[in-house]
Amino acid sequence: MKMNLNIKSRLTLWYLLIITLILVILSIVTYFLLSRSLYDIARKPSDLTIISLNSADTDTGLQQPSLLTSYTISEEWLETLQSKPSDTLSIYTPQGQIEVDQKNYITAEMKGEQQVQLFLVSSPDHPTVSEVAAIVQPVSKVSDTLAAYRRVLIYVIPIAALLAVIPGFFLVRRMLKPVNTITKTALEIGQKGLSDRIEVTNQDELGRLAETLNRTFDSLQDSVKRERQFTADVSHEIRTPLSIMRGETSLALSKERSADDYHQSLKVIAVEINHLLSTINGLLELTRTDNGIETIKKNRVNLAELLTDMSSDMETLCEEKSIKFKFNLINSLTIEGDEVKLRELFLNLIDNAVRYTSPEGNITVSLTQFGNEACIVISDSGIGIAPEHLPHIFERFYRADKTRTGNARGAGLGLAICKSIAELHGGKISAESIVGSGSTFTVLLPLS
Ligand code: ADP
Repeated sequence: MKMNLNIKSRLTLWYLLIITLILVILSIVTYFLLSRSLYDIARKPSDLTIISLNSADTDTGLQQPSLLTSYTISEEWLETLQSKPSDTLSIYTPQGQIEVDQKNYITAEMKGEQQVQLFLVSSPDHPTVSEVAAIVQPVSKVSDTLAAYRRVLIYVIPIAALLAVIPGFFLVRRMLKPVNTITKTALEIGQKGLSDRIEVTNQDELGRLAETLNRTFDSLQDSVKRERQFTADVSHEIRTPLSIMRGETSLALSKERSADDYHQSLKVIAVEINHLLSTINGLLELTRTDNGIETIKKNRVNLAELLTDMSSDMETLCEEKSIKFKFNLINSLTIEGDEVKLRELFLNLIDNAVRYTSPEGNITVSLTQFGNEACIVISDSGIGIAPEHLPHIFERFYRADKTRTGNARGAGLGLAICKSIAELHGGKISAESIVGSGSTFTVLLPLS
């Protein structure tokens, strides 16, 4: 079964587990170190006594041995005893060295309740006489001490772990407090609207999390604002031609009209239908680009050839308003691009230049190389764009002059489409303008 514990409980449990583990490991290590040094101390020559039970009966004498002779054992013997306790041992007695083999080891209780190791030996001089040599080791004292230590550890480990975990719990709670604040504020921001922000008090990990969330809220608020603006703009763009068409039809139908009047009304309606269609087509194109559906079919495109090819269309547009048209092209600048889209981009710019330039004005199209990019500049001597409008002209539905009507009224999507085409080609578009003197649009496209 999966337990749904919160971070605070999980951290505290982990903390408890790790502390307990460390304490257990430390206790085991100290226990073994302690027991080794206690046994080492106990086996020091001064603490050891060899007693000899002369002529002891091996059957009965072992039951209750008594101390008959006391010997001090040598360091050498002690080392032998420690290094090969299960092998043959040499015991030095006043009678000489005695070899003790493993089968003669016996552990027995002595009178004083001390645990001792007894060595049943025969003197090489008197093989018939059994002797019992006992090494008295204060083993029981050591084991008693160790048992007491074990009892202490059994109580100390859980108590120490609990004592460590209580401040740990409060520490975790304190550390996680900003998370609760962030969660609460984020929840409120989601409910109340996107205007509030999380207060950033520290520059630690949680402070950075708060900053990241604030930035996310910023861009969310921005996109919600843009979406609302977009919906309002679209509604407006659609409502205006529909209102004009309704007005025109109501007027035409209100009474019997002449053929000329009907013709005039239909002309107005046709203009509005065209406007509606171009708005919807433009929107569709931008939406397809936004959604990544609009892909470009890249081929090698010679820009000089493409612009020369378009020049007759451009000239025709200019001729209608008696605008002087000039070409400055350098040859052989090739890019990887979609010819149809590039045509649309340049035509939109020329169309705007013609639209916003008064008769007898000038329009120049030039193509040059700028580093690794092809630079296409379309400049006009038109009305220009005021500085307050300039930063917004590439936005959807943005129009510097909102009062224009009829054919002169654009959908406000032309430059947004130009920008998206330039970006689809890995390039960019920019504009400079002086009111009353004209505008210059620069398109930079990476050369192949
Ligand atoms: P529109 O369909 O209204 O022309 P665009 O996106 O093509 O929409 O242009 C946005 C706005 O930029 C226009 O409404 C106009 O005010 C301004 N603009 C674009 N090109 C020019 C230009 N060559 N000269 C002056 N103003 C321009």
